[in-house]
Amino acid sequence: MSGDGVVFSLKDVGFSYPSGEKALEGVNLTIRRGEKVALLGANGSGKSTLLKLLNGLLFTKEGTIEALGQALSEKTLANEEFSFAFRRRVGFVFQKADSQLFNSNVWEEIAFGPVQMGWPADKVNRVVDEVITMLNLERFRKRPPFRLSGGEKRLVALASVLSLNPDVLLLDEPTGGLDPRTQRKLIRLIQQLGGAGKSIIITTHDLQIVEEIADRAMVFSEEHRIVADGPPSKVLSDRELLLRVNLIDPQYHEHGHEGGHRHYHSHD
Ligand code: ADP
Ligand code: MG
Repeated sequence: MSGDGVVFSLKDVGFSYPSGEKALEGVNLTIRRGEKVALLGANGSGKSTLLKLLNGLLFTKEGTIEALGQALSEKTLANEEFSFAFRRRVGFVFQKADSQLFNSNVWEEIAFGPVQMGWPADKVNRVVDEVITMLNLERFRKRPPFRLSGGEKRLVALASVLSLNPDVLLLDEPTGGLDPRTQRKLIRLIQQLGGAGKSIIITTHDLQIVEEIADRAMVFSEEHRIVADGPPSKVLSDRELLLRVNLIDPQYHEHGHEGGHRHYHSHD
């Protein structure tokens, strides 16, 4: 990682899909080591696209992206040394866990990254056991990932990323569609990982969890631009902004701070 602690640096980044669909426009941002960033925006605003660019799954010709002090492009990722270091240090959990689960059982799924990295068997075993314990996945060890519930799949996908102990985590809507208990468990885990000093970038349109998981919030407009960037309490208190970017509807009421957390209620 570069000496000044910059994890990602984007200058004038735009992106359009081959179909011509615009997904990002004029994005400038710097993310420093240890930051916990929430990317907020309505459906289709470009959050997932940005995470895929940050993870080197998509590339753009509009603007420049630097990761860990180097240009992030098809060309630099073709360099085995950089690609190896990048894949080892940056972990990505997809919005749809199914797209990243392909092994025949949970143990193998979690061991996949470490095995690919060529770690010795005893280290692989130890690391996989640690992650299984941390995420409470003992009972799923031998189960095929595709036969788990949505929430369980999400946890296994996260486990498969954590087994490489990345410094940077990109999480795409990690709490979306989970039952309250699993959601709570994930939030605690994210807080724990943040406390351990990891840089975390999370997309969400769930405003209620932002202050719990992030120290910085960025808001995408439906025109695919970043229109706010600041402390979550400040960004979330700008009702006019949240309305404009379609993150709340006019019926949405925010209740005061209770126990340090904001509570939102939608009356319909
Ligand atoms: P978000 O994650 O904020 O919901 P996305 O990044 O998924 O937004 O999408 C941004 C825009 O790009 C949307 O208009 C969406 O329809 C479009 N888009 C996303 N994925 C594709 C794709 N594979 N092909 C074409 N257009 C896409
Ligand atoms: Mg998305």
